[in-house]
Amino acid sequence: MTTQTATTRLAPSPTGGLHLGNARSFLLNWAIARRSGWRILMRLDDLDADRSSAEAERGLLESLDWLGIDFDGPVLRQSEAGEQYHDALQVLAEKGLVFRCARSRKELREAADALGAPHETGATIRTTASMRPTDPEAWTLGGGDLNHRLALEPGAEQVDDRLLGPLSIDPSDAFGDPILWTRRNVAAYHLASVVDDLAHGVTDVIRGEDLLPSAGLHQRMASLLDGSPPRWWHLPLVLDASGRRLAKREGDRTLASFKARGVPPERIIGLLARSSGLQPTLLPMTLSELLDVLDVELLGARAREESARGGHRITEEDIAWLEERTT
Ligand code: GLU
Repeated sequence: MTTQTATTRLAPSPTGGLHLGNARSFLLNWAIARRSGWRILMRLDDLDADRSSAEAERGLLESLDWLGIDFDGPVLRQSEAGEQYHDALQVLAEKGLVFRCARSRKELREAADALGAPHETGATIRTTASMRPTDPEAWTLGGGDLNHRLALEPGAEQVDDRLLGPLSIDPSDAFGDPILWTRRNVAAYHLASVVDDLAHGVTDVIRGEDLLPSAGLHQRMASLLDGSPPRWWHLPLVLDASGRRLAKREGDRTLASFKARGVPPERIIGLLARSSGLQPTLLPMTLSELLDVLDVELLGARAREESARGGHRITEEDIAWLEERTT
C-alpha cells in the first residue's frame, strides 16, 4: 500500500508586497506543515499578467526567506501551466457543464477579476441558471474570445474546516455560474487553483478566511474533475487598528518595509504568534520556538473566536513594539 505524503502549498499572487495578514497565513501554513512533516510547495498565482510582476515575485520570495519560511522543490508558476488548465476545461465541457457566455455587461472587468482570487465574499456579478444559453453551439468550447462559464447547480457543500469547524456552503450563492476561462484566453483563478491542487497532490489547503466561499466551489469542482478535494484550514483575517482589513496598498505595513526599518524577523514571528493565541505576551520568537508552541486545537479555538469578530486587530501598540529600538 502506498501512502501519499501530505502536501500543502503557499500560493501568493505576485501583485504586491506581503502585509502582516498574508505573513500570518504563510507563517502558520508553514508551521502546521513543518511540524507534521508535510511537503510544502511554492506556487505563484501569476495568471493576471496586468497585475503580476517579476519585481513583486522577487520581493515576496525575499520576504518569506527573511522570515525563514522555506519550501520543497522548485517554484511553480500558474502562467506555465495553461495547457493543463485547458485539458481540465475540456473534461468539464465533455460533461456538458461549460458554456460560452456572450453577455457583455462589464465583461472585460469581470474577466480581469476572474484571474485573481476573490477577496470579497462572493463575486460581484452572478450569472444564474436562467441566464444560460439554449443554443447547443454555445455549450462547446470556442476560441477563448468569450468567457466560458461552469453551469453550477445550486446545493450545499459540507466543508469540514480543520480550524473553523464544519460548515455548509452553497457555492452557487456566492458565484452563480463562475467563469472558468476568461475572454482574455486564460484560465480563471478557480479553475487554475483546483487543477493545480489536484495535479500537485495537495492534501491540505491553508489560507485566509476571505477565500472560504471559494472552498465550497473548489470542493465541488474537484469532484466534477473526478478528484478528491483537499482538507481545508481557513485563518481569520488581520485587521488594522480601525478594524479595516489590511490591503496591499498599505505599503508601510509590508514585511519589506519592516525589514528596511530594521525590525528583526523574530519580532514579526512573535507578534503573529501572539495574534494567533500561541503565546500570551509580545515576545520575540524564532521559527523553532514557534514549532514548539504550535497547537492546532488552540489555533482552531482562537480562529473561531476571531472569525466571529471579523478578524484579528493589530493595534498601533503592536506596531510600536515591532519597531522598538532593541540596540
Ligand atoms: N493566490 C491567492 C491569493 O492571493 C490564494 C489562492 C489560494 O490559496 O487558493 O489569495
